[in-house]
Amino acid sequence: METILLSDSAEDVSAAAELIKNGEVVGIPTETVYGLGADACNEAAVRAVFAAKGRPADNPLIVHLADFSQAAHYTLFIPPLAYKLAERFCPGPLTMVLPKNEKIPMVTSGGLDTVGIRVPSHPVMHGIIERSGCPIAAPSANISGLPSPTCAEHVMKDMNGRISAVLDGGDSKFGVESTVISFDSDDTVRILRPGAVTREMLLGVCREVVIDPAILRELKEGEKAVSPGMKYKHYSPKADIIMVEGELEGFKEIISRNNGEGVYSLIFDGDEKDFPYRHFTYGADSSEQAHWLFQRLRELDEIGAKKVYVRAPLKDGVGLAVYNRLIRAAGFEVIRI
Ligand code: AMP
Ligand code: MG
Repeated sequence: METILLSDSAEDVSAAAELIKNGEVVGIPTETVYGLGADACNEAAVRAVFAAKGRPADNPLIVHLADFSQAAHYTLFIPPLAYKLAERFCPGPLTMVLPKNEKIPMVTSGGLDTVGIRVPSHPVMHGIIERSGCPIAAPSANISGLPSPTCAEHVMKDMNGRISAVLDGGDSKFGVESTVISFDSDDTVRILRPGAVTREMLLGVCREVVIDPAILRELKEGEKAVSPGMKYKHYSPKADIIMVEGELEGFKEIISRNNGEGVYSLIFDGDEKDFPYRHFTYGADSSEQAHWLFQRLRELDEIGAKKVYVRAPLKDGVGLAVYNRLIRAAGFEVIRI
């Protein structure tokens, strides 16, 4: 299959929408990361998404809508708190897990009786949803297990020959996937995957925001994942990633002891003064680090890095999302100094 590259012109946005309407899979830009979009109600199209990524069948796809008011068409029940959250955070990088109705096929929800609903803010993505007239199921547009794509070039690299088209809508603004939440009670939500909508922001609307413990640690043997994505190794480049928590001086000491061929450091902007080892930087604060993380992991693979020591981000605000991706990329290998 030839994968065509589309631009973000009105004509190409319509072409992408038409392809999706006709059951094809298209790489599409969003404000979080690029997605592999297909008609969420078309089982064959959704199967093609799983096949293109090599994604396990029990890992559900998020369904993207043009407006939260459409969520009622695809769900059995929407709690009042969800509407309140939608008012504040939709469109934007928030996915709400709700009980699905029969319009969403089981393939899309990975066999679950719930569906993750999101209303993206990216104008091109919004245009594609509106013009296709479909709810769009879209996981991140990477080969399963690899770092998520934050530009069209990354999608082409992973998906060339596997899907019909990729639409180039520029770099993804946030660089990490959406915040996924479920509802614990009338006034409490649970973060299943951290993202750019932070716990602190959610607390502006909810009385309580529970951070699911599996966000920061490995599932124990036999423990059930509240969110299937927690079970899988994720976001990993070919290089071995080791996360290092602590001050810069201690970090440098670790590199001096472990330096060698193919060893790289991924450090914060500002750390590079008097840093005599091979390194990349990934931003000065959590938002910048979210934006650059996946791009840097891909670059490290391109130059053939074997082992990468990464300075661990903060665990609050958007930092929690960056930490969550890195600890999975590292297969939970963390050095604490
Ligand atoms: P991705 O499509 O790569 O952004 O990953 C989507 C992730 O959202 C999945 O791996 C799940 O962990 C989570 N998710 C999506 N739908 C549900 C759901 N119905 N229940 C719980 N978690 C979900
Ligand atoms: Mg993904």
